[in-house]
Amino acid sequence: MPAAARPGVILTEVRDFRLGDVIDDFCVKCRRLTNHAIVSLLSGQAAKVRCRTCYNDHDYRHEQAPPSKKELLKQKELFNAVLSGVAPSLGPADTAIDPEHIPPAAKKKKRA
Ligand SMILES: [Zn+2]
Ligand SMILES: [Zn+2]
Repeated sequence: MPAAARPGVILTEVRDFRLGDVIDDFCVKCRRLTNHAIVSLLSGQAAKVRCRTCYNDHDYRHEQAPPSKKELLKQKELFNAVLSGVAPSLGPADTAIDPEHIPPAAKKKKRA
């Protein structure tokens, strides 16, 4: 394919995208940066892209990875912990199983 531009065409906006252009983007399905073909344009910028690996269409993400489920889960746990205000491991059950607190009568109950 000849790279030379047609005569008379002045390439001023070389950075403008065109439909079908292949650009890098983060694919949520592939979970990594992959080649994407532009399928929709918005004012010279990629609006929608199609992954060249899994052929999934989605909005152009500007190569930004979404927060992972692990991170979201962590945030949720932190949020719930703050809401409850009490760590779940600290309860009356912990003192009940302390051998110091077992009355002698309970120990005798053990059958020989
Ligand atoms: Zn993708
Ligand atoms: Zn993909």
